[in-house]
Amino acid sequence: MPSQSPSHELNQILVVDDTPENLRLLSDVLTPRQYHVRCAKSGSLALLGIKAAPPDLILLDIDMPDMSGYEVCAKLKSQPETREIPVIFLSALDDVLDKVKAFEVGGADYVKKPFHVEELVARIKHQLNLRAAKLEIQRLNTLLEQRVQQRTAQLETTNSNLKREISERQKAEEKLLYDALHDNLTQLPNRVLFMERVENALRYTRRHPSYKFAVLFIDLDRFKIVNDSLGHAVGDQLLVAIARQLEKCLREGDTVARLGGDEFTILLADIDDISDAIQIAERIQESVESHFCLEGHRIFTSASIGIAVGSAQYAQMEDILRDADIAMYRAKEMGRSCYAIFDQNMYYQTLRLLHLESDLRQALEREEFLLHYQPIISLTTGKLSGFEALVRWEHPEQGFVSPGEFIPLAEDTGLIVPLGEWVLREACTQMRQWQLQYPDARNLKISVNLAGKQLQEVDLLDTIDGILAETQLAGEMLRLEITESMLMERTEEIIQVMQRLRDRRIQLSIDDFGTGYSSLSYLHRFPVTTLKIDRTFVSNMSSDPENFEIVRTVITLAHTLSMEVVAEGVETTEQSIQLKGLGCELSQGYLFSKPLDRRSAETMLQKRPHWTVESSDSSMLPAYSR
Ligand code: C2E
Ligand code: MG
Ligand code: MG
Repeated sequence: MPSQSPSHELNQILVVDDTPENLRLLSDVLTPRQYHVRCAKSGSLALLGIKAAPPDLILLDIDMPDMSGYEVCAKLKSQPETREIPVIFLSALDDVLDKVKAFEVGGADYVKKPFHVEELVARIKHQLNLRAAKLEIQRLNTLLEQRVQQRTAQLETTNSNLKREISERQKAEEKLLYDALHDNLTQLPNRVLFMERVENALRYTRRHPSYKFAVLFIDLDRFKIVNDSLGHAVGDQLLVAIARQLEKCLREGDTVARLGGDEFTILLADIDDISDAIQIAERIQESVESHFCLEGHRIFTSASIGIAVGSAQYAQMEDILRDADIAMYRAKEMGRSCYAIFDQNMYYQTLRLLHLESDLRQALEREEFLLHYQPIISLTTGKLSGFEALVRWEHPEQGFVSPGEFIPLAEDTGLIVPLGEWVLREACTQMRQWQLQYPDARNLKISVNLAGKQLQEVDLLDTIDGILAETQLAGEMLRLEITESMLMERTEEIIQVMQRLRDRRIQLSIDDFGTGYSSLSYLHRFPVTTLKIDRTFVSNMSSDPENFEIVRTVITLAHTLSMEVVAEGVETTEQSIQLKGLGCELSQGYLFSKPLDRRSAETMLQKRPHWTVESSDSSMLPAYSR
């Protein structure tokens, strides 16, 4: 009866037996059952055959002359290529020990001869199925392994891609962070990073009160000139060069940052005392002052430095920077290449200026300004020649604020233009009124100070024309005082404006002469009618021969140029006598009178005073005409 087909493709069976009949019998039994049967007559032949073409199963006789079945089996099991081939022993021996041995040497099964065909076939089939199953498991395992390897490879690629992506992202983030914390021109830390470090220093100070640090605020002097004259590219290069120079001046642990423009800041960590900071400030100034060669230009620069010492008393880091900034401004006021150390007074002064500035904006509307009038006396006649109008600010809380304080503030903020216009109108109105009111006042002149900004206003002439028309004051009764330094910028335009003022017969006076550039040689270019010698020369002329000579030279020069001379700040009889002796026409000072309010000025006008300039002690007291 034909049996079922052997399991899968496993159908190669090797029969090993030294008895030819057995071989034939088995071949006859198995061949019709779709097995492909090969035969070997001895163990050694079997081994050769197996090596050449391994079968799927071996039916192995035990008792053979050249080599026992056990030996054959043991050999097969010792070789990796043949180890897995199932061996079914066929033997007439039926001892249990034989069976045990058969299994010990690696046999898969044991069939006793004479065998029952169906049993043998069943056992063969069973072994082949087992073998097939094992092979399938092996195949699946290999497949699985391959899959795993593939997946692992894939995962590894994904993983390395991810890693690359992460590192790129990290780099991008680092770059972003770097950019956010650094100045992209000089690559120095920027304000944000600097403030962070100051904050850390401050925190540390709070825990360790003996720890001190300093903040330096550095501003380049005249950087704007470099930028404007040589271009921004050179300006940028200069900033970079300065940055590198600053870095060289520092110790490890210090931070130099660029706040913007030409402003740099330095955090000096862990200093013993202020002298450490001073030493570094001096080092910086020295190194910045050595010239820089940029694109063929030799550039000289210098730095103003403000120093603030950090201590636990600071509540906020911004305050330290602010104080260093305030000190820097103070250093700038002292001249170029200076340093200043912050103290609390500077803060109050700055604060006061800030308040003043905002108050100043409202002062005009609130009519807090008024004029005082200081008499100007003719040394020739001893009579009143006119007044200088001097503005006063009656601050609602602070009382009188000195013009020395608020005039520069008004100039900085541009408020000087409306304020100056008010002064001009008020002074002209007043003088015209006095001229009408007092017979002796008909020829009095009013001197009004003009700020540089006013002189640059395009509608200055219109304004003055308007005021003169409004008040009916004659042009020659108005004397405008301008300081020397105003003449140095935009000279040609200024000369034109002055010329047109002269066309209106307005008098022009150079105020504080000698304190500015004091170049006598340019004076003839300006259509000036009066020179006002600064009080510093006048006050020293009696004691200092050199000053006396200066005053004499100025008077002589002025006369050569057909100008009158007014001496400012005359406080002693001696001065007035000397001035008169030198031919000085006019004089103004406490000796004659302090600036007077309107009522006092009117009292004086009523009394028609007369001064005698003589060398008797009491001569300078005004003798009042009746
Ligand atoms: P300035 O034009 O040189 O005015 C003269 C200053 O010297 C006045 O100071 C005056 O009070 C003072 N003075 C007069 N005689 C003597 C003296 O014998 N000894 C001493 N030590 N000082 C004397 P003041 O009023 O404080 O004005 C200061 C400056 O403020 C003025 O200097 C002027 O530059 C400016 N200023 C005043 N009013 C105005 C104004 O309406 N407009 C402008 N643009 N500036 C003004
Ligand atoms: Mg003046
Ligand atoms: Mg003056």
